[in-house]
Amino acid sequence: MSNISSNINRIHPIPAFSDNYIWALVDAVQRKACVVDPGDANPVINYLESNGLELTDIFITHHHPDHTGGLGSLITRYSPTVYGPEPSGIQGISDYLHEGDTATLFGHEFSIFEVPGHTLDHIAYYCEETNPPILFCGDTLFAAGCGRLFEGTPAMMHKSLAKLSSLNSATSVYCTHEYTMANLNFAKAADPNNSILLNRIEEEQSKRDQGMPTLPSTVQLELDTNPFLRCDQAGVITSASNRLGQNIEDEVEVFATIRNWKDNF
Ligand code: ZN
Ligand code: FE
Repeated sequence: MSNISSNINRIHPIPAFSDNYIWALVDAVQRKACVVDPGDANPVINYLESNGLELTDIFITHHHPDHTGGLGSLITRYSPTVYGPEPSGIQGISDYLHEGDTATLFGHEFSIFEVPGHTLDHIAYYCEETNPPILFCGDTLFAAGCGRLFEGTPAMMHKSLAKLSSLNSATSVYCTHEYTMANLNFAKAADPNNSILLNRIEEEQSKRDQGMPTLPSTVQLELDTNPFLRCDQAGVITSASNRLGQNIEDEVEVFATIRNWKDNF
C-alpha cells in the first residue's frame, strides 16, 4: 500500500493466483478504482465490494491470460474503460494505446511506452505527476529481474529495459509478480560483489518473512541491484563472460547470456 498525494490516494496490491499482484489505483474521495492486469475477476470484485469502490478503468500491459483473464466478467459487471495494446487482439479493450500516447486516470496523465521483449505487444504506463512518479510495467521490469523472452529478442528487451530505467530514479516501480527472492538469488550469482544487492536481499527477505509484498521497487534500486540493468558493469560482464566461456564486450550479448543463464538457473 502506498499513499500518494494526488487523486490517486492509494495503490493496493490484490493478490491473485500464486504470485500475481493486481494493482488497484484508488481515488478514495470519488470512490473509484482502476485495476492493472486483472488476470482473475473474483479477487478484484471482492476488493471493490469490501471497500465500496466502483471500477471505472482497467490498464492492460500484455495479452497473457494471467493479466487478462478477468476482463470479461469485470466488463460485464462494471463497464469500465479498458486501455491496452492493439497488436495481439485482446478481447474487450476499448482504447488502444501506442508509444507516445497518453491515458488520463483520475485527472492524471499516464505516458505509454511500447516495451516489447516478454511479448511483442507489451506496453507500460508511467505517470510523472504523482509524488513519487509511478510506473506499471507488467512482466517487463521485475524487482531484481526481467520477464522471460517468450516473443521478443534480447536486443528488443534490452532496449525496452533501457527505456524504463532511464525514467526519474525516484519512480515507484509496480510489476505484476512476486518473483523478487528468486530473482535476487540469481542476481547474487550474476553480480556477486555488489554490496547494495547483498543488503537488498536481507531487506526483501525480511518483508517476505512478515508476509509483506516486496513491491513497489524504485528505478534507483533496480539500477543498483538488477543484473539485467547492469550489463555495462564490470561484475556482470565478468560473470556473463565466465558463463559463456569467452570474453563478451557487447552489452546486448551480456544481456542475452544472463537471460539465458537465468532461464536455466
Ligand atoms: Zn506475461
Ligand atoms: Fe505474468
